Amino acid sequence: MEAMTTTLERIAPFKNEAIKNFTDPADEAAMRAALARVKDRFGERYPLVIGGAKVDTEKTIRSLNPANPAEVVGLIASASKAQALDAIEAATAAFEQWKRVPMPERAQYLFKAAALLRERRFEYDALLTLEVGKSWPEADGDTAESIDFLEFYAREALRYSEPHPVVPIDGERNEMIYIPLGVGAVIPPWNFAGAIMIGMTAASIVTGNTVVLKPSSDSAVIAAWFVDLLAEVGLPAGVVNFVPGSGSEIGDLIVSHPKIRYISFTGSKEVGLHINELAAKTAPGQKWIKRVVAEMGGKDSIVVAADADIDAAVEGVAVSAFGFQGQKCSACSRAIVDQSIYDEFVEKLKARVAKIKVGDPADPSNYMGPVVNQGALDSIGAYIETGKREGRLIHGGNRIGETGYFLEPTVIADVAPDARIAQEEIFGPVLAVIKAKNFDDAMEIANNTEFGLTGSLYTTDEQKIERAREDFFVGNLYFNRKSTGAFVGAHPFGGFNMSGTDSKAGGRDYLLLFMQAKTISRKV
Ligand code: NAD
Repeated sequence: MEAMTTTLERIAPFKNEAIKNFTDPADEAAMRAALARVKDRFGERYPLVIGGAKVDTEKTIRSLNPANPAEVVGLIASASKAQALDAIEAATAAFEQWKRVPMPERAQYLFKAAALLRERRFEYDALLTLEVGKSWPEADGDTAESIDFLEFYAREALRYSEPHPVVPIDGERNEMIYIPLGVGAVIPPWNFAGAIMIGMTAASIVTGNTVVLKPSSDSAVIAAWFVDLLAEVGLPAGVVNFVPGSGSEIGDLIVSHPKIRYISFTGSKEVGLHINELAAKTAPGQKWIKRVVAEMGGKDSIVVAADADIDAAVEGVAVSAFGFQGQKCSACSRAIVDQSIYDEFVEKLKARVAKIKVGDPADPSNYMGPVVNQGALDSIGAYIETGKREGRLIHGGNRIGETGYFLEPTVIADVAPDARIAQEEIFGPVLAVIKAKNFDDAMEIANNTEFGLTGSLYTTDEQKIERAREDFFVGNLYFNRKSTGAFVGAHPFGGFNMSGTDSKAGGRDYLLLFMQAKTISRKV
């Protein structure tokens, strides 16, 4: 019997990692110890990794603790243009061998990486808290999702390496196989500093591509840790090349290079569109049309209908808007509330938000930590000023303290549907509350932005649910729950319109984006 089962059938089905809530004293103690260990490593230097060789540079990126920017989490080598070119050459050379490694064998590297990440879970959690300001549960959610991506894409690779049915024809033996694309530029954001960076890299390599990984400067230490972990599990040199650096200096060069076959990007609309435009230009010597997978911003709405459970809606809006300081692409930044319950909703929301505790996320009693950097603090602050003119400030609006980048959770009510703070991605703890005349009006407002990432509807009415299933134009739609917290495999994730190419990370179609199909016919 053993001989008849495939590798995929022999392994346990995919199951999401449970997220720790740190109520277990053993978990709490482990996290405190991990925070201390990571702090002991503050100021460590992280080199580039090109073709397996560690390369130091004169220029460095300082990754700071946003809760206390005087603390340097790590000094990361910053690649020059010449070093970025070296990385592309190393990836091009490594591709020739890596593409020949059978997919099930490549999957084993992901399984091993997941196992090691599980062992080091608290260290990764602690680093996410200290490098990007995640609360303990948010940090653990990011690490758990990283493990999930590795486990899920490894299984997906096994599935794709099995035969794909084609229609039989007399006199021929036909098959269709999936082969890799080539050298990919992987460009992740800082906000899911572990999960998105690991997910895009894992999908690239398991399908047989080689990678030039350019992380965000705000989260380059976690990327350096992961690149080290890949070396530990024996990933061959050159398969993942690590080149942190300035987007405008080396980012453009990498994206437009003729040997880059595809770009896997997650980040803002502005940078995504810029990359898409650059990638569309054919460089001399380029043999292909580059593929761009770009997952971009959001301006996500929660609609609260007249018949909703108001308390549940208040809770869902508060956690979706202010979890990780509103710095999730799926964060609720617009609550669209039926006028018949509007006043009650706003009063209850105000009371709920007043309970949110803001402070250093290394202290688990704080729900909200700092925003990621000075630039974010300034730009969110400017939006708050705009919001005060565009609506009625009912909570927050101020910076807290002068050391870290802390902001109060901010709620602005009576905002017009076309106001700037109702249309532009703020990417911080600022929520606009919009009054809708009725459900038709609410649905129209929900669809009135250029984005289409996540959305949620609170209602007890089946007809409204049916209507929203058809008309609420978002890649991830939720009913009677928060708009954040997509689980790998359960909620394949990606958005419409200016939210990106709807690549559905964590879904069964995702790996196809990193491969091309080859049909082989033989006369028999
Ligand atoms: P960003 O666009 O500023 O940066 C993203 C990445 O692009 C970083 O690694 C950055 O260094 C790099 N970059 C910048 N300029 C570049 C250039 N010219 N060439 C190549 N690379 C360049 O975004 P961010 O601030 O890191 O992340 C926040 C944004 O990401 C938000 O808009 C958020 O909505 C979005 N996001 C989207 C999703 C999704 O799945 N749709 C998920 C997470 C985050």
